[in-house]
Amino acid sequence: MSYALPEFLAHAVALEQEAADRYLELADMMEAHRNDAVSTVFRSMTRFSQMHCDAIKARAGSIELPRLKSWEYRWRSPPEVGGEEGFDYMIEAYNALKYARQNESRAMQYYRSVAEESTDAEVRRLATEFAYEETEHVAALDKWIALTPRPSLTWRDDPDPLPPAV
Ligand code: ZN
Repeated sequence: MSYALPEFLAHAVALEQEAADRYLELADMMEAHRNDAVSTVFRSMTRFSQMHCDAIKARAGSIELPRLKSWEYRWRSPPEVGGEEGFDYMIEAYNALKYARQNESRAMQYYRSVAEESTDAEVRRLATEFAYEETEHVAALDKWIALTPRPSLTWRDDPDPLPPAV
């Protein structure tokens, strides 16, 4: 995964935009289920992801970024869930937080592997910085997961252990 800067920036922008979109969706869903505490968590995650996305776009400046295929950056649903229409399954805050954490962790691993493997000094520097930011997002979600009651029996399988992030 040794990227040139434009490729890396394109991935980072897409990852952050995807995160912002998904967090907004989760925030709205939690609000609809009157879970204001968790909705607030997702709204601030939306804001951070959007700010990060804007900062990366500013860094890219006039560099033309390549277009990516959607599977290169989309969030993953847990394996037992079909597609986007499976969102209903996550009514419970705990599962929504776990889902977000899994995807944040995947972004973190992605940035880390770029930081380790890239031969471009600027890509390595940025990827290291972004990996650190994702570490903070994962930690923030962990804090909330610890404060959130586990779902009832309707949630058959706890999503742990998570499949390894790619
Ligand atoms: Zn993040």
